Amino acid sequence: MPTFEVARSMILSSVSPLGAERVELLTALGRVVAEDVTAPWDLPFFDNSAMDGFAVRAADCRPGGSLRVTGYIPAGGTVTPAIEPGCAVRIMTGAPIPPGCDAVVPVEEAEERGDAILLMGKVERPQHIRFHGEDVRIGDTVVSAGTIIHPPEISMLASFGKATVPVYRRARVAVLSTGDELIELGEQPVSGKIINSNALSLAAAIREIGAEPIILGIARDSMESHREKMSEGLKADVLITSAGVSAGDRDLVRDCLAELGISQLFWKIDIKPGRPTAFGMKDGKPVFSLPGNPVSTMVTFEEFVRPALLKMMGHRRVIKPYVQATLRSEVRKKPGRVHFVRVRIDVENGMNWATSAGDQNTGILGTMLRANGIAMLPKDKSVFSPGEVVAVHLLRSDVGMLDE
Ligand code: AMP
Ligand code: MG
Repeated sequence: MPTFEVARSMILSSVSPLGAERVELLTALGRVVAEDVTAPWDLPFFDNSAMDGFAVRAADCRPGGSLRVTGYIPAGGTVTPAIEPGCAVRIMTGAPIPPGCDAVVPVEEAEERGDAILLMGKVERPQHIRFHGEDVRIGDTVVSAGTIIHPPEISMLASFGKATVPVYRRARVAVLSTGDELIELGEQPVSGKIINSNALSLAAAIREIGAEPIILGIARDSMESHREKMSEGLKADVLITSAGVSAGDRDLVRDCLAELGISQLFWKIDIKPGRPTAFGMKDGKPVFSLPGNPVSTMVTFEEFVRPALLKMMGHRRVIKPYVQATLRSEVRKKPGRVHFVRVRIDVENGMNWATSAGDQNTGILGTMLRANGIAMLPKDKSVFSPGEVVAVHLLRSDVGMLDE
């Protein structure tokens, strides 16, 4: 039975990035760039003023001296003829610097006297000029392959007129629930039946990382039903099943996957919750068989499926950092397996503190909602005292955010 780390690295070394596609610039937000994007021109494209003021020749300037204002260039204006010695041109931020000028005097540093200005201070070239090519040179890589697109990348790409961007494809992820006890959302619950919530929690987790869920519905506890639904699921980039992967006589997932030619890389991981998790591959496609218990399904998605989907979508860094958190109260577990303990993290004076989010029984869904992190408690230890530091994967982006 592989350990947590071994299972995760077996999964990650089995999957590889999907192909690329071109998408509209704004659609690329959050996606990973598939090819280096280079600058088609220099940026800035032309020397321009960084201030509202007067374009001058620094050599003509001295404190208390005056210059005749001979022209005006607004933002968006075109380049004017070179200025004459002893003259200045009124210029707005972003407007092209006239030939011969090597400095801009901000309005605040000049006193206007009719059609002349009086200089209040020293003028040193090349003050307040943004030079042609000082930011980016033609041919430079402006956004390299593997970069995640955030607003600054959007800004850079837009500045170079890139209306579309080559990015890795979003993974299409089929989600299959299994079990005769399941009914769909909207159906009337009766004793013995439970609503297929895993389809929705998995679809949500898939969507949250920018992948595309395909909900296949429910495979009933027969080989025919499993076969039909799984064959459908294998058309996607990834298949995730939930439940039916333990050792019960109605647990058909692994048998059916084997029949469909999926080669199993492992079944069972030395962890709690999530022990019955299985992983297999067919023709380069990963198949994750997660346990059915809603908490186990979400935790195993977080720890095993999420990094794999990120890798498939071109991400280079796929494993969440472990934050260090100090326990506020004692936590106990049985020795023998790594436990994923649902914790509540709070941040005080820049330090992370962890408290158990409640009953750690995997049947308690409420503890998952109270948790904002998963502490990874090592295999052989069983008592974790207040003040001990544990490694935590954060589950929510608002951890440590402040009240208004
Ligand atoms: P199994 O692995 O089939 O024994 O299922 C384990 C537990 O998970 C059982 O209590 C199931 O009722 C529950 N379960 C299975 N599938 C789902 C699902 N799609 N949504 C919510 N709970 C489920
Ligand atoms: Mg079942």
